[in-house]
Amino acid sequence: MIKQMSRYWRWCYRPWPLGLLVGLLSSLLLLSGAWQLGTWQARQSEQQRLGVLHAEVVRRSAVLLSELAGHLQVLDQQKIAQCDDNARQQLRSLRHGMLYTHAVALRLADGQWCYSLPLPTEQQLQSYQAWQFDSVRLLWNPQQLSVSSQPSLLLMDAGAQVASSLRYLQETIALPDGYQALLTDAQGQRMLDFSGVRMVTTATEQAAAQSPQPLFVADGKVYLRGPGDSRGMRLLLVTDDGPLRQATAYYQRLFGGLALAFAALLGWLAALLIRHEQSLHKALQLALRRGELEVDYQPLVDLQTRRCVGAEALVRWRRADGQRVRPDLFIPQAEDSGQICAITQRVIELVLAEVGELLRSNPQLYVSVNLAAADIAGAAFAEPARRLLREAGVAPGQLVWEVTERGLVDVELATRLLGQLRADGHRIAIDDFGTGYSSLSYLQQLPVDVLKIDKSFVDALGTEAASSPVAPHVIEMARDLGLKVIAEGVEHERQAVLLAELGAQIGQGWLFAKPLDAQAFRMFVAQH
Ligand code: C2E
Ligand code: CA
Ligand code: CA
Repeated sequence: MIKQMSRYWRWCYRPWPLGLLVGLLSSLLLLSGAWQLGTWQARQSEQQRLGVLHAEVVRRSAVLLSELAGHLQVLDQQKIAQCDDNARQQLRSLRHGMLYTHAVALRLADGQWCYSLPLPTEQQLQSYQAWQFDSVRLLWNPQQLSVSSQPSLLLMDAGAQVASSLRYLQETIALPDGYQALLTDAQGQRMLDFSGVRMVTTATEQAAAQSPQPLFVADGKVYLRGPGDSRGMRLLLVTDDGPLRQATAYYQRLFGGLALAFAALLGWLAALLIRHEQSLHKALQLALRRGELEVDYQPLVDLQTRRCVGAEALVRWRRADGQRVRPDLFIPQAEDSGQICAITQRVIELVLAEVGELLRSNPQLYVSVNLAAADIAGAAFAEPARRLLREAGVAPGQLVWEVTERGLVDVELATRLLGQLRADGHRIAIDDFGTGYSSLSYLQQLPVDVLKIDKSFVDALGTEAASSPVAPHVIEMARDLGLKVIAEGVEHERQAVLLAELGAQIGQGWLFAKPLDAQAFRMFVAQH
């Protein structure tokens, strides 16, 4: 069963099937996004396209209606005492200059109307739809278009009437084929149909007039609602949804294609990344087997006496072509893949093989070894280390373990392991101190002997940088807690002097020595 699982797992870990999976999953996700984006984009462009026509319809109908309102004003200024032939003649001659007006009427002092041509009586006006604008009433009745005995469009106030025709409105607006324009009230109920057929709205038209979105699509039609004027009158432009459907299909294909291309790129990148990771994984595996890992020793120096007190073991990878790979290029990957435990094991073996003799003959000298989070979680290094130390005849006190805050995420587990290591006689150093997140809180409960101040804080010493007080603060805190301090990355004499004055005991850095191979380190110890 386990064998089968691991075969399956190995198949899954192949770059191309995994890349394909990434491509498929991301294409599903991206396609659904592209589909929605396509719908949205098509609606936007349809709204824009209809918006242009809508604005033109509004502009043209306003031209006609304000023309009629102008006629009404002219009439309001006329004075007629009696409705005789002269008066009618006067009204007819007034009408001549009025382009959209068939007939006019004026109310006499006795309340009777005087017409240029007979206009509908109050009784007949009952069959008209009407809108009141301040003192002016707009009346319309599309049925009159076919009857033609009465005007289909009328504008009147208390003293005058102008009779016009819905046909003028149609001619002025000149809607292209396939479009309809409806003027409705805020509830979408009363309606002026510019094509002059209907007087009542359908339920869908009412919904479109009241919809919060300007664009409304239903029953194979697209409605564009205007913002409406202060009286709630709004113009609805209606057309077939064919162009919208075409645009939607176009944008969905366009964005869908882009989404697929992007998903394919993601899948390809994922496959490349996995292949790269695997090749590094395999190469490291080989490096461990072929013994390509080496250790350099960077001296640790007493800041007062400038004598060498030990070294930090730093791993190096010498490839078959002689090129040396820096640890920060392969340690993070080895941490991810779990190979770091084998590397730690190898470093301990190399340290004891190369400088075991030196440590035996200099019992005050020590070497510190870096531990990764996985080492602390698994604790697999502890038992072999105990055995190797015994075999080499080196005291546990000569091996210091360096742990970073990243390795201490599980504080309980770390406390137990570090306590055990200390009981064995080792010392514990916190590496890169100050760069983590919980520096102070865990120090009190963890079994720790040494703080290593990170290079960035040593660099900041004596400068204007915001972090310049960190190193002095850490040194002071270490003194209070009874811990030793090692300052990392000391490159200049003035830093060494300042650190010594502040109370740091040990320095490590290029000022004293770069990381050295075992041979060079032995010579360094002999000289210092
Ligand atoms: P680290 O533990 O903080 O090691 C100190 C690093 O600073 C080393 O880089 C060292 O060469 C460099 N250094 C020391 N003094 C100076 C200086 O004065 N100036 C400058 N610019 N740099 C200085 P290296 O050897 O490249 O190691 C980088 C990191 O790789 C280490 O940082 C450590 O985190 C990791 N590493 C190295 N060896 C091991 C190992 O055996 N096991 C584990 N788990 N990690 C290791
Ligand atoms: Ca270190
Ligand atoms: Ca460090």
